[in-house]
Amino acid sequence: MQKRKKILLSILAAAVLIPPTGSLVGLTIRRFWRIYHPNQPLAMPPSTPMERLNPLSRGPASFLFPSPAQRDSYPDHCQNIYNLVCQKQGVTHDPTGTVSSDVDGERQALHIYRELIEQYKDYPGSDEQKVDLIAEALVQHIFNPKQRGRILSAYHWVMQAIERFFERQPDTVFTPLEKHQIKSVLKRTRLEIPPPANVYADEPDLLTKNEVYYERTVEEKMRLRVGGAYIFIAKSWFNLVFTLAHELAHSIDPCEMRSIRLSFPAYDRLTACFLQNGMIKTFKIRKECGQNDQLAETFADWIAVEVTAEALATFSTEFRGPQVINAARNSVRDLCDQDDDDELDMFLHPSPRIRIEKIFGSNSKIRNLLGCHPTLFKPSECSFKGETE
Ligand SMILES: [Zn+2]
Repeated sequence: MQKRKKILLSILAAAVLIPPTGSLVGLTIRRFWRIYHPNQPLAMPPSTPMERLNPLSRGPASFLFPSPAQRDSYPDHCQNIYNLVCQKQGVTHDPTGTVSSDVDGERQALHIYRELIEQYKDYPGSDEQKVDLIAEALVQHIFNPKQRGRILSAYHWVMQAIERFFERQPDTVFTPLEKHQIKSVLKRTRLEIPPPANVYADEPDLLTKNEVYYERTVEEKMRLRVGGAYIFIAKSWFNLVFTLAHELAHSIDPCEMRSIRLSFPAYDRLTACFLQNGMIKTFKIRKECGQNDQLAETFADWIAVEVTAEALATFSTEFRGPQVINAARNSVRDLCDQDDDDELDMFLHPSPRIRIEKIFGSNSKIRNLLGCHPTLFKPSECSFKGETE
């Protein structure tokens, strides 16, 4: 029996054996996707925004010690973007949709799987034929033309947004040759989504998993894949944009570039800024791009925030204030929790507070969209030039 069939049959068995309310924790999570727990207990941040203010770069001294009037003139959420995103209970609706928990998504995918197994149980043919038919019927249902179109359009929008972001950089930051090299690598990444089901023949359980990931295969093929359960979860276009942007950014992250022997001074300046501002955790011995190094993840988040800021700004002309805030929440709300049982998640990803407060919450465009003051309560922001503010 081929390996693929064995795996598919084990999925079928699992689909039948696992009760609908069974625990779906302990799922393999690669690169990005995070489980969202709305009731996550909140801890105090490592330092208050006021403590992080740098008097030499923060403009008027009054912002160091804002008067009550100054505080009152900006929304409370500007003081703690992490709380804005993670403290809100229940489902958040933005004009494009919602974001559910990944457990919900996997339940829905498995529910459809079980129904298909029932439907095909008396079908004449071998078990292997049934497995193929069921997998094909599953992907036709989940990756239907509407959903495929939604993912493809978000993917192309994100690809172009990343290209625009690099194009906007001055030639003193990236030379025309460097921009060309980065864009060439970016464009080599292909989005792989079913149907047919055999697109994921080497990883068939992805059809019911809540994973979105980028990978470079041993044949040097660069691809981005989307698990079936994710389709049920990310109804919000902004979550889709952040997720795809994060994964696509991995194709050009400093570690991927290093693996193809490309390096850029601008990447080095950005990395230095990440380290200086605690956006990369420095373990006792840090080996850049080595095991447990967070550089690639922080870079991918940072690019994804830039892309998301552009997406939010584009739609802010037609959305009203609270809608923009909800869209911003939905873009990153799955970053709120960290899976303590997942070593990859624990060591490779910065903590949720760093990801949301320091990477997302320091972005000037995001803060502007959230109605925050350009400098007041703003964590240090990194750029390809180094620290900007
Ligand atoms: Zn990642």
